[in-house]
Amino acid sequence: MKRIKIKDLLKSTDYNKEVCIKGWVRTRRGNNHVAFIALNDGSTIHNLQVVVDMNLFDEELIRRATTGASIAAIGTLTPSQGSGQAVELIASQLEIIGDCDPNEYPLQPKKHSLEFLREIAHLRFRTNMFGAVTRIRHAMIFAVHDFFTSKGFVNIHTPIITASDAEGAGEMFQVTTLNMNNLPKTEDGKIDYSQDFFAKATNLTVSGQLEGELAAMAMADIYTFGPTFRAENSNTSRHLAEFWMIEPEMAFYDLNDNMDLAEEFLKHLIKYALDNCEDDLKFLSQRLIEEEKNKKAEERSMELIEKLRFVLENEFVRLTYSEAIEILKDSKPNKKGQFKYAITGYGSDLQSEHERYLVEKHLKKPVILTDYPKEIKAFYMKLNKDNKTVRAMDVLFPQIGEIIGGSQREESYDKLVARMDEMGIPKEEMEWYLDTRRFGSVPHSGFGLGFERLLLFVTGMGNIRDVIPFPRTPKNAEF
Ligand code: ATP
Ligand code: MN
Repeated sequence: MKRIKIKDLLKSTDYNKEVCIKGWVRTRRGNNHVAFIALNDGSTIHNLQVVVDMNLFDEELIRRATTGASIAAIGTLTPSQGSGQAVELIASQLEIIGDCDPNEYPLQPKKHSLEFLREIAHLRFRTNMFGAVTRIRHAMIFAVHDFFTSKGFVNIHTPIITASDAEGAGEMFQVTTLNMNNLPKTEDGKIDYSQDFFAKATNLTVSGQLEGELAAMAMADIYTFGPTFRAENSNTSRHLAEFWMIEPEMAFYDLNDNMDLAEEFLKHLIKYALDNCEDDLKFLSQRLIEEEKNKKAEERSMELIEKLRFVLENEFVRLTYSEAIEILKDSKPNKKGQFKYAITGYGSDLQSEHERYLVEKHLKKPVILTDYPKEIKAFYMKLNKDNKTVRAMDVLFPQIGEIIGGSQREESYDKLVARMDEMGIPKEEMEWYLDTRRFGSVPHSGFGLGFERLLLFVTGMGNIRDVIPFPRTPKNAEF
């Protein structure tokens, strides 16, 4: 008999037909007469209750249908007599597909800490929490492609192995086939990369932007959605060594167009989650309330679904870096020395504590900061007329801080080269990129959205390790 998914069955009112379901046992309870098996198959947060008449089955078979075991059940759907579920399956046949030793299985039918679950990441998918996160992650991937497709953008696969340190965005992971125990050396004692696989030193990419710009100079509106790697040793709850980034790049867009697109994009993703992930969001909302129940009222987060609606219904505040510095300089935490990094004035780099103060305490809305000092931003950003600031934009979200970083790009060949010289960026290896400014250059803009940062926001999870199946962080590449 063909298997039907629990998600579809729970919506069905087709009561007298026999159906077949397969999944993993979450719990089993009951007595000598009847057993209730809560079965989950990953299609929904909800379990299907399978009702087993003990007189019809071998006791040993039911004993094996224990937490973690995989089973198949055939039966008929009926309106449930118990509370807690609308329908249940009255089993007529039961089969153990895979046994699970309850004494060995690490996941007990109780709440486990997030830290413990990270240590058994290969089994984490079996929990309600990670099931919900995983389904939302998928929904957001779909919504990304849906948004850009509806706007006529073309998806570009940019390389994962690169020879350029795109923007000095972070420390890079080296890629090599050289024998580490016996490195070939040149006459002056340096490593001889001409003998390496690509005949030069190569790394894992930190961004697909530069290649994306090449595509935008012909296809006009493109986006990348791929893995990026940063060997930065920042052990925070918002940084991964391997994360996924979405980077649109648009010809003929100025900074305002860029901000409009970023805001519309984020709102589209959030609306998609609200419209399509209701059950999982409700579960995660409850989880967050539970987790924060011992916190003081003023330290608790806004309720998850309310928070998502709030972002959807409010315009993002647009502010220049200089305006933000004035606010921060005069802020209570700055005057009282409560920031780890004091804001002394124009030129200070913004840390996430400052970003979160602006968003959560001062403006109480998502914020787009623009026009940062050129010294703290990348070489390719367009210089303003003041010669001091660049057309950068960072989108700052409550709980997260920076969720998007972007800019209008410098389209003038001369100005770009001047900036590269100023910043000591070697041009010889960047001729391919400079060609975009040689042959029919146009004003253009783009940004990067860290996919896991978005997921932190949408799921209300507090640690970025809990929104990616197999997190890569300093000293950790298990599983
Ligand atoms: P941050 O200051 O938070 O480290 P960044 O300035 O290094 O961010 P960008 O280089 O602008 O970030 O990258 C674009 C986006 O990628 C960021 O807005 C963020 O959403 C995401 N991002 C950056 N670094 C990481 C990381 N290590 N792990 C996960 N996401 C990241
Ligand atoms: Mn960084």
